[in-house]
Amino acid sequence: MDQSKQQFDVVVVGSGASGGWAAKRLAEAGLKVALVDNGRKQSDSNFTEHMPSFQLKYRDQASELIRRTRPVQKDCYACMEYNYDWFANDLDEPYSTPKDMPFSWQGRLRITGGRTNVWGRQSYRLSDLDFKAASHDGYGEDWPLSYSDLAPYYDIVEEYVGITGIPEGVYELPDGKFQPPMGLTCAETLLRNRVKEKFGRTVTLGRSANLTKSINGRAPCHYCGPCERGCVTHSYFNSAFTTVADAVSSGNCTHIPDAMVYQVLMDGDRNRATGVLYIDRITRQPQEVRARAVVLCAQALESVRVLFNSANRQYPAGLGNSSGVLGHYLMDHITGGGANGELPELTGKPNINGPNRPDGIYVVRFRNTHDGPRSKNFIRGYGFQGGGDVGFNWSAPGFGAAYKKALLDPITGIGLGGFGECLARWENYVEIDRNRVDTYGIPVLNIHMTYGENEMAMVKEMADSAAEMLEAAGAKNVRSTLRPSAPGWAIHEVGIARMGNDPRKSVLNQFQQSHDVKNLFVCDGAGFTSTACQNPTLTIMALCVRSMDHLMQEMKAGNV
Ligand SMILES: Cc1cc2nc3c(=O)[nH]c(=O)nc-3n(C[C@H](O)[C@H](O)[C@H](O)COP(=O)(O)OP(=O)(O)OC[C@H]3O[C@@H](n4cnc5c(N)ncnc54)[C@H](O)[C@@H]3O)c2cc1C
Ligand code: SF4
Repeated sequence: MDQSKQQFDVVVVGSGASGGWAAKRLAEAGLKVALVDNGRKQSDSNFTEHMPSFQLKYRDQASELIRRTRPVQKDCYACMEYNYDWFANDLDEPYSTPKDMPFSWQGRLRITGGRTNVWGRQSYRLSDLDFKAASHDGYGEDWPLSYSDLAPYYDIVEEYVGITGIPEGVYELPDGKFQPPMGLTCAETLLRNRVKEKFGRTVTLGRSANLTKSINGRAPCHYCGPCERGCVTHSYFNSAFTTVADAVSSGNCTHIPDAMVYQVLMDGDRNRATGVLYIDRITRQPQEVRARAVVLCAQALESVRVLFNSANRQYPAGLGNSSGVLGHYLMDHITGGGANGELPELTGKPNINGPNRPDGIYVVRFRNTHDGPRSKNFIRGYGFQGGGDVGFNWSAPGFGAAYKKALLDPITGIGLGGFGECLARWENYVEIDRNRVDTYGIPVLNIHMTYGENEMAMVKEMADSAAEMLEAAGAKNVRSTLRPSAPGWAIHEVGIARMGNDPRKSVLNQFQQSHDVKNLFVCDGAGFTSTACQNPTLTIMALCVRSMDHLMQEMKAGNV
């Protein structure tokens, strides 16, 4: 049937972490869903996790060639010769920034599953120290919901996604429904034990969306390593072969790929969203999809771009923007503070063939905790990701036989890199660039973001505290790193259509429902009121499921 003539119950825009869940939840409940995504269809035949680089034309060594079409996407460590065509062409689809305000908009995917194809899979719950951060230290706004509201939805998501982890009983990082843990290396165990003993801090296994137990026909991980190139056994969480596949196989979801959504369509008289207008990326023709409700899940920057581009007479400053808050309070985690060193007391035999555990360790936030002392230099906190293992001595001096011998002399390395909370500040914002359109004729975003004094003080302490912990673990040759990232580099952009109870100060309510337009929802990270220091995606997914349950209740009650 011609999609433009079909009336759907809900149109979901985006097939990534949030859109996959929205489509699954709604379609499995019996609603007719259109899943509109600007990526082409993903398939197992694209996956190359077992392909050696010598089978590639340029041996995965030609990053400058990739930069010709993807100068920003290539900033992302996961964009490589194996998969670069999953990423957007930056020349066709740019964003812009003021000259003196760099922002790296890496991680724009154009394939079903969006960023979940290549994500790092680190999956952490937020706690009430995060949801109620403003009550704790007086800065900003509390979220309009509490941990207890979201906990049952974290359970649902974790059990389906499959997350390996160790329960630790720490207030700041609530435990979840974990699959059996992948093991820690000797170096990591040593760090864990000594850091607990000396500082009382928790070093744990990274909580990662990689299966250690089979679920829903997906096999446990076999430790081959490069998940960002896909996974034929479906052992990591990628919405393309999990939530989206479930939604489609329910028989209630029509997946419309290669569809670049431009605007939300409105019935101004009834103040209701009626569907979306998209540009078909293949034919370049405009098309419409009609539905009773619209759910934007296009990733925070892109959903807000769609809302700005949907401005009309009733909402001249952007759809759903009667508050004037839309586009403001952009956040990303600050990174670039950490340390690495060597643990000479441990030895072993390095192995070039793996096993390659696709996970590392995590140091739980220990600054400005629930009931601990407060830092004088900054508010909020940071966590570390890292790892340690026996490796080859790649930086051995010399050449010839002596070099070969030295290379095999094992080194046990250990490293930590911080992820710090970024404060929600009005002056970090996005707007429409009036002078630039993408290849489809759609006005692009202009992004204004810098880190402030709080983030800079925090990243400096990350470098010091990482070195301090490594030294306490007995590491030698400890080198701290302090190279604060530009915004965008953590690829955790959230917050530009914030949730709140007060429609004058927020765009969405606690169910990510527009205060202004009741049948319009924004279920990616745009709704975050603050960013915490944990990776955002588990929370994005849990919020999305909760919001979709609310949408269905409202539809049943005749309110939407
Ligand atoms: C390399 C990398 C590593 C990461 N590691 C982690 C991690 O370890 N832990 C973590 O929590 N997070 C991580 N992230 C971030 C994580 O991937 C995102 O937070 C998450 O995927 C966001 O979900 P989303 O649904 O908002 O967006 P996405 O998953 O990106 O999905 C958005 C979808 O919308 C589509 N879309 C965009 N614009 C339009 C449009 N105009 N019309 C139609 N469709 C559109 C996109 O193609 C995409 O399919 C990482 C990201 C990257 C790139
Ligand atoms: S490491 Fe595990 S999850 Fe990643 S691609 Fe290999 S088997 Fe799949």
